[in-house]
Amino acid sequence: MACRSGCVTQNHDSWGDCLRASNIQMSTGDANGGLVDGGWTNKKWDNELKLYRDARAQGIQPEGTSTAKIRKALDISDKTGHAYGSAL
Ligand SMILES: [Zn+2]
Repeated sequence: MACRSGCVTQNHDSWGDCLRASNIQMSTGDANGGLVDGGWTNKKWDNELKLYRDARAQGIQPEGTSTAKIRKALDISDKTGHAYGSAL
């Protein structure tokens, strides 16, 4: 399996392709929001993206874009009262 464990689609031919796809996903919230809104039809991804954007809007920086990682970051932020991943 060429894909990293955090890969959403697990269908990349090489680790490099997988990383590039991940980087595209990570950057869409900042520069290419329109591309995401128009291009992603998978409902799970939509929900993940919304969750990720919500987290980032609060200054939280999840370790990845998967729901589990975002929820963990939100959870920890709730408990600590500090945005997870942000500078102390
Ligand atoms: Zn992949």
